[in-house]
Amino acid sequence: MEEKINFEILRKQMVETQLIPRGIKDRKVIDAFLKVPREKFVPDDIKKFAYDDTPLPIGEGQTISQPYIVALMTSLLEVKDGEKILEIGTGSGYQTAILCEIGCDVYSVEKIPALAMRAKNILQQLNYKVKITIGDGTLGWEEYAPYDGIIVTAGGPKIPEALLSQLNENGKLVMPVGDIFSQDLIRVKKSKGKFIKENFGACQFVPLKGENGWQE
Ligand code: SAH
Repeated sequence: MEEKINFEILRKQMVETQLIPRGIKDRKVIDAFLKVPREKFVPDDIKKFAYDDTPLPIGEGQTISQPYIVALMTSLLEVKDGEKILEIGTGSGYQTAILCEIGCDVYSVEKIPALAMRAKNILQQLNYKVKITIGDGTLGWEEYAPYDGIIVTAGGPKIPEALLSQLNENGKLVMPVGDIFSQDLIRVKKSKGKFIKENFGACQFVPLKGENGWQE
């Protein structure tokens, strides 16, 4: 018999044990995490681990990020309702849903067609309005630029120039930068045409592959 799991309780526990004690304070971010059903973004056979404190495989050699990392990156973007956000690496679509739930206008680029299609379906089912395209996100998405925020959910050797050029004045970009095995979480703020960089410590992401990322 299939065991019945109360995902709502697991979701609340995740927020209380993984996010709040580690310093996630932004009410909008916490409320979004309490709402978005993370289990829907995880393959069927591992749904029971959906709220664990860890990344999980989503197929095609890719992962859904650990809840805390999604919360940290979202907080670092300091988003406001109605802001236009570009996401590079749709993956499962979970980070996309969190941004939508906060009230952002989200544009997301995914390289692997099968993942883009699956994320699109789930987000549609959950009624999140988001634009997803299949392509090389290291080139950004020129058509809808500039963006108030850009979030890159795969690790690259450097911040792609194309992304910096698609950032609005006072916009922020968050991205893991380093080698293939480990990266630092970097935030860049654009102010009076200058880029101010801050480092938020070590992290581990799947590689950003593309023209301005790791070569295949
Ligand atoms: N935010 C996602 C993270 C998925 S992992 C989630 O939590 O589910 C990172 C994703 O980046 C993978 O799906 C991978 O295919 C994608 N990716 C890697 N290089 C890319 C590129 N150049 N352009 C777009 N997507 C890319």
